[in-house]
Amino acid sequence: MVSRVIPVEAFDLVIIGGTGDLARRKILPALYQRFNAGQIGKKSQIIGAARGEMTSEAYRAFAEEAIREFLDKSDVKVRALKSFLKLLSYVTLDAKGETGWEELAGKMHSDRIRAIYFSVGPSLFGDLAKRLHKHGMAGEGTRLVVEKPFGRDLASAKELNQMLARHFDESQIYRIDHYLGKETVQNLMAVRFGNMLFEPLWNSQYVDHIQITVAESVGVGTRGGYYDRSGAMRDMVQNHLMQLLCLIAMEPPAKFDPDAVRDEKLKVIRALDPVEPDNIVRGQYEGDGERPGYRNQVESRDSTTETFVALKAHISNWRWAGTPFYLRTGKRLKDRASEIAIIFKDAPHSIFEEDGQRHNNILTIRLQPNEGIELGVTIKEPGPGGMRLVDVPLDMSFAEVLGPDEADFPDAYERLIMDVIRGNQTLFMRGDEVEAAWAWTDPIIAEWDGSGQAPEPYAPGSSGPESAMFLMHRDGRRWREIKP
Ligand code: NAD
Repeated sequence: MVSRVIPVEAFDLVIIGGTGDLARRKILPALYQRFNAGQIGKKSQIIGAARGEMTSEAYRAFAEEAIREFLDKSDVKVRALKSFLKLLSYVTLDAKGETGWEELAGKMHSDRIRAIYFSVGPSLFGDLAKRLHKHGMAGEGTRLVVEKPFGRDLASAKELNQMLARHFDESQIYRIDHYLGKETVQNLMAVRFGNMLFEPLWNSQYVDHIQITVAESVGVGTRGGYYDRSGAMRDMVQNHLMQLLCLIAMEPPAKFDPDAVRDEKLKVIRALDPVEPDNIVRGQYEGDGERPGYRNQVESRDSTTETFVALKAHISNWRWAGTPFYLRTGKRLKDRASEIAIIFKDAPHSIFEEDGQRHNNILTIRLQPNEGIELGVTIKEPGPGGMRLVDVPLDMSFAEVLGPDEADFPDAYERLIMDVIRGNQTLFMRGDEVEAAWAWTDPIIAEWDGSGQAPEPYAPGSSGPESAMFLMHRDGRRWREIKP
């Protein structure tokens, strides 16, 4: 199978915060990869813009270093890299002052798509939107790419939306959730809506429950300052896990069109019941001999910020009434592994001799580390000796089915940045979706803040706090093992 790369028209892309960590680790390497693949041509320009003084020459050296550091050696082709660096230049720009804006405006082409990537904290969004407008860079053809976190509660998200809306139309705003750029997540939609097999069973009549796990083995590392003001609920559940839940739970959109998809996702969020306190567990990792505990990695030694959340959510609509969605995410867990599992109900009657085992089909969508989709089916154990049942995976591991080249997925940022240039908002969150998600998480966080209680400690390298296990056990269910 040969993948088709469709080149995009020449564009101008400005990375505001172009010298930051995200630009280094994700944005610049992603742009190089798309250039190397032939999708970005030599006439496009990429402008790094940030507060620090720097020449364009120095910025090109900065970009080269980032690309060499964060991509596999085999991806870095000397000639391609040299040509790519020619697209780059740098402008010293102050979001809060006048420095650099005229120079930036002078570099932009009015007849091209202009993508402005806000790779800075949200406290600068309002200033940036205002100055882009003032300097004639807000008109048609300009698209804003906005990073997470989009607010820290409903009120701040509304404020951000209003600040952007003063100068930009919603159709110009691309709120990134990089989980949506993952190939498997899009495959989830292809599997659901491109096959006859699954959709008739995709409801509470046939689905027992759903588990969404996003487990990290690392702790907060050097991001403690940011993380301690955020926590797992704001950093992961409100955005990434919520988006995954929406894609599983939404009704089939009439077409694969940005607003049709986002309308359906919004309906799901609005149909979520409030979470009762006994349906949610929050935890915080402890230290061991080798690794520090969370409280030793942040300023406050009695921090009550959660590094783990497990919860049971209910969606009150015809399709899902009675089918729980169990969500869990955390740091310093057993392994780095993210997956969605659809656990179907048992067959209504077994004609085989009972072996004491449950044999139900499970559809697993693995997001990382090995992207793939697996369907667990029950078959007869081969060989003589009667009818013994065994569960085996019908594995759709992309590397095996499509060959290594096809399964060498572009990073989520590559797809998402190209979607911005192409003007496709399907994989970006709309303002009302983000607000609805905060409206659901706000009362949970308020309850925690009000209680003053500390999260439950859990051992590093474990599957999370005891109470998270109980959340499942009391329903006669169990979490799937966290394994890559
Ligand atoms: P960073 O602190 O490493 O970089 C910030 C950048 O903003 C620097 O280039 C700095 O010069 C520039 N900047 C700061 N104030 C400025 C001003 N007044 N005018 C112009 N430029 C200014 O931050 P980061 O880690 O790159 O993160 C950027 C944004 O992306 C943040 O909102 C962060 O939450 C989000 N994000 C980061 C990551 C990541 O992996 N780093 C992941 C997801 C989201």
